[in-house]
Amino acid sequence: MRILLVLSILLVPAWNQNLYVGDQVLRVYARDNVQLELLRQLVATEHLQIDIWRSPTKLGLSMDVSVPFTSLQGAKVFLESNNIPYSIMIEDVQALLDQEQQDMKASRLQERRTNSFSYSTYHTLDEIYSWIDNLVSEYPKLVSKINIGHSSEGRPLYVLKFSTGDNKPAIWIDNGIHAREWITPATGIWTAKKIASSYGKDSLVTDIIEQLDIFLLIVTNPDGYSYTHSTNRMWRKTRSINVGSQCVGVDPNRNWNAGFGGPGSSSNPCAETYHGAYPHSEPEIKSVADFILDHGNVKALLTIHSYSQMLLFPYGYTNSLAPDHEELNELAKKAATALSSLYETRYTYGTTIATIYQADGTTTDWGYDNGIKYSYTFELRDTGKYGFILPASQIIPTAEETWLALVEIMKHVKDHPY
Ligand SMILES: [Zn+2]
Repeated sequence: MRILLVLSILLVPAWNQNLYVGDQVLRVYARDNVQLELLRQLVATEHLQIDIWRSPTKLGLSMDVSVPFTSLQGAKVFLESNNIPYSIMIEDVQALLDQEQQDMKASRLQERRTNSFSYSTYHTLDEIYSWIDNLVSEYPKLVSKINIGHSSEGRPLYVLKFSTGDNKPAIWIDNGIHAREWITPATGIWTAKKIASSYGKDSLVTDIIEQLDIFLLIVTNPDGYSYTHSTNRMWRKTRSINVGSQCVGVDPNRNWNAGFGGPGSSSNPCAETYHGAYPHSEPEIKSVADFILDHGNVKALLTIHSYSQMLLFPYGYTNSLAPDHEELNELAKKAATALSSLYETRYTYGTTIATIYQADGTTTDWGYDNGIKYSYTFELRDTGKYGFILPASQIIPTAEETWLALVEIMKHVKDHPY
């Protein structure tokens, strides 16, 4: 009995209070508008606690939903009785999370043993922040750290600046705005190292950095990211308090002052796409927006998300095409082609509203409406086999292929001053 008890304590992951044992991720297809409406009702049924992982709201595109074990039977009966097709993408969410924890533990041991930093494992916020300091001290002539503000729980927002001096036109890149999209800060870390180590060695990168400054925010939502490590791996939003609601957090990619509060976001504080009380209510968003506006010379705004393998550009809040639509589309095509040349990872590209769904208050629409022509959203790997729980073994390949697309865009910005 005692042994059993000890065993069960050992087997329960201590890191995470939220367990997902037996939860499944289902991919659901609505065949017509009636089914689409039924699906909307299903995911909106509060007591089922269905978590939308990917939510295209138009016909012909599938929706990925994570269904708690206790709601599974009911959800499947509902889908089957309404003839709504579905497939099981992830059999047991907790099994993937346990594997992820095991991998992290093993990597951490290895890092300690070899006194090195591994680019092929996921890291906590503290580990990322101390790595940032190390990068700055390793490349003091090129890299500096700027604190652009604080999160609602008081965590600093550290931006890496890559610059050869003087204030030049700039590229802005942010990662980790949605907390659970762990592949994006991991890719940001690799990217930072790649930029720093390529300067003076790779002629194209050197050329880019001599003409453009690069700002890179690796963890845009540090409260949410910390929360995914301490409490709930599947957390998406910020961690701000919503006055008058029990529910915490705002969707930081619906909080920007661009088509704010339209039908592509929610006014319900409990929703995953809650837009917040007013534009830039989130200090994380206000800090980034103020920094970019104060800088006044940002030419490209690249915001990195996962998953779906997409490259998106304005608009999300309207069907109107951006005045630069043709150029943005051509460049997206070039970037997606470069990306897929390495591992044949296929990306779709196009406007947010036409490619994925209507979304308002997003980073890229705000960037574009504020004069930043080259505003793109990346949705990194994969297409749903692992979703947000992408194995750490895919970090480096993901970062490598994404780098090719980033370089393509940065080169275009360099060659097309405006
Ligand atoms: Zn996201």
